[in-house]
Amino acid sequence: MPLENMKAMLSKAAAGKYAVGAFNVLDYNSTKAVVQAAEELRAPVIIQTSAKTVTFWGSRTLMGWVKELAARSRAPVAVHLDHCKDLALIKECIEAGWTSVMIDASAKPFEENLFVSRQVVEMARPKDVTVEAELGAIVGVEDDIHVKEQDSHLADPAQAVEFCAKVQPDCFAPAIGTAHGIYKGEPKIAYHILQEVAASTRVPIALHGGTGLSDEVFKRCIALGCAKVNISTQIKYAFIDGFVAYHSAHNTQYDPLKVIQAQFDEMKKAIAADIQLFGGAGKA
Ligand SMILES: [Zn+2]
Repeated sequence: MPLENMKAMLSKAAAGKYAVGAFNVLDYNSTKAVVQAAEELRAPVIIQTSAKTVTFWGSRTLMGWVKELAARSRAPVAVHLDHCKDLALIKECIEAGWTSVMIDASAKPFEENLFVSRQVVEMARPKDVTVEAELGAIVGVEDDIHVKEQDSHLADPAQAVEFCAKVQPDCFAPAIGTAHGIYKGEPKIAYHILQEVAASTRVPIALHGGTGLSDEVFKRCIALGCAKVNISTQIKYAFIDGFVAYHSAHNTQYDPLKVIQAQFDEMKKAIAADIQLFGGAGKA
């Protein structure tokens, strides 16, 4: 199928109380794992690329893989640029065929975040490209943020309403206490903020820092309005672990295609389990 943007995908998910998995890909093999897992489960899916990955491979190369895999698949596929601060790269991805982009101006003061995010919406909308914008600071667990500091990074619900009214993003990423990376302890999720923001903005919410959250946390967040769940760290682990496990078990065999197949199987297994957990199976 041709690539689509996130608009219909996420509004259907929000109405149906499930979430679309957004998986950060690393190469052709991981992109193929995302598309095949979605196709087998008849689920909509989002191929997500970090700015770093786009820069590493080049936007045209990456888009070539995505288009070729999506065209051969019956799964509805969107391709989304994750956390991007660089307007030139956003423009490049829109021109290269990305159907969705995230502007992350969350480190800037509120008014500036609003202005820059709005600029991206104005750049993307005429091309039928959807936009995700962030408010508050979604931290990395490696940032070593203490509990009190953590609270000060969360999105303010009143500001969230103003932000969404003025920016009109297609997807909204308020900081609600989840973090990127591997959680060291029990994450402290501000469910009250999520609930208030989802109900008052009526914009589908993206849940960042999905790796390591319990099934219960996912279910609760999805029930409260998270229509997109981001999974990145888990794919990185499956990518490396798939390689290491195969090589340790066959340490005299130097057959790279078998290693690549083992990585593919490991990533696809993790992706399929997530799609099922988020309720996306059978929704395509
Ligand atoms: Zn994120």
